[in-house]
Formats: sequence, C-alpha cells, structure tokens
Amino acid sequence: MSRSTISTFQLFALIPDQETARQYLEERLWPNGPVCPQCTKRERITTRKGGYYRCCACVLTFTVRTEQSSSGPMCRYTNGSTPCTCC
Ligand SMILES: [Zn+2]
Repeated sequence: MSRSTISTFQLFALIPDQETARQYLEERLWPNGPVCPQCTKRERITTRKGGYYRCCACVLTFTVRTEQSSSGPMCRYTNGSTPCTCC
C-alpha cells in the first residue's frame, strides 16, 4: 500500500466529526486566517458562531465551504472544486 493513502478507519480517527472537518479545511485553505471568497480581502473579517465569518468590506457572510467568485488556480486539497488561496 502506498504511504500517501490512509484507510477509512484512519480517516475517521483523524476527522471524527463536522467540527474537526471544518477546522481541518480552514487550516488548509486559510493558513494565514480567513479570506473573503468574494473580495479576497482578509483585513476586515469578523468571526461568528458555528464557523461563519463576515467580511465587513463587502458585507458577505461566509464559511470555509463558500465558493470563491474569482477564478484562480484550483485547490488540490478540495480536488479542484474551489479556487485556491493556500497552495
Ligand atoms: Zn469581502
């Protein structure tokens, strides 16, 4: 077996619930803090409950799963489903 893969049991041990999955994605996609998916700014973002963030520059409420509006390099951590801000 390749060293780059893990079993389903190992995956569930690493990411046992939705909160852990959200934190994992945020660390991967936003290594320097949350980035607004609409205006791509990170200076005026406030934290809300449940993984929600609000950009005060463009008044958008978003999560790590909100799709980015601008086109850019596709993220390898999400299998190319979203533009990348991390890699
Ligand atoms: Zn914004």
